[in-house]
Amino acid sequence: MIDDLVHELRASTRPLVICDIDEVVLEFLDPFQDFLASMQYRLHADSFHLKGNVRSVVDGSAASHEAIHEFEETFFATQDRWQRPARNAKSVLDALHEMADIVFLTAMPPRHHAVRRTLLDNLDIRFPMISTDEAKGPIAAGLIGAAGRPSVFIDDLHTNLHSVRSHAPDCMLINMMASDVFRALAPPPGEGVNLALDWNHADNLIRAHFASLRAL
Ligand SMILES: [Mg+2]
Repeated sequence: MIDDLVHELRASTRPLVICDIDEVVLEFLDPFQDFLASMQYRLHADSFHLKGNVRSVVDGSAASHEAIHEFEETFFATQDRWQRPARNAKSVLDALHEMADIVFLTAMPPRHHAVRRTLLDNLDIRFPMISTDEAKGPIAAGLIGAAGRPSVFIDDLHTNLHSVRSHAPDCMLINMMASDVFRALAPPPGEGVNLALDWNHADNLIRAHFASLRAL
């Protein structure tokens, strides 16, 4: 199925927007807080990490790496109960789709693909989605194709942005994060990465980028 999607996208000559899901199209951190609260845990915004910052409400002890992994696994399996769209994500993407192809690239174990697909469909967010455990750079480069058409990649995590920078150097990179609290803790996104405060800001950056390429 991914091969068909890659083939279809590579055959298109429209600009391409490759977009992360968690903290970009769907809120992740606020809903994850709600989920942790249901488990008697809390994510403290002490630094830009989960590890060490997820602590028991009962006795203050930090959740182990394994426990955090289990929390994430249960959260993803039941994400349709918790996650909600980031503000203006749908309206901006729907408008961009009039001029560009849109594809979601989510770093989530593919076993949770169906529940996420159903959640997005129920929100009437129907763009195709690839779920992967692999680095995003090579996948993004494959979606853009050798012709090097105008492209944008949006993600909240620097590792993913830098991976795409390495494999698709002409792709415009946008760092965006739904949570104001954790965005304030994030280190600078790195060279060549644009910072968008919200979807309307990202919309302006994307449209200006595509317009500048049309003028060449
Ligand atoms: Mg994300």
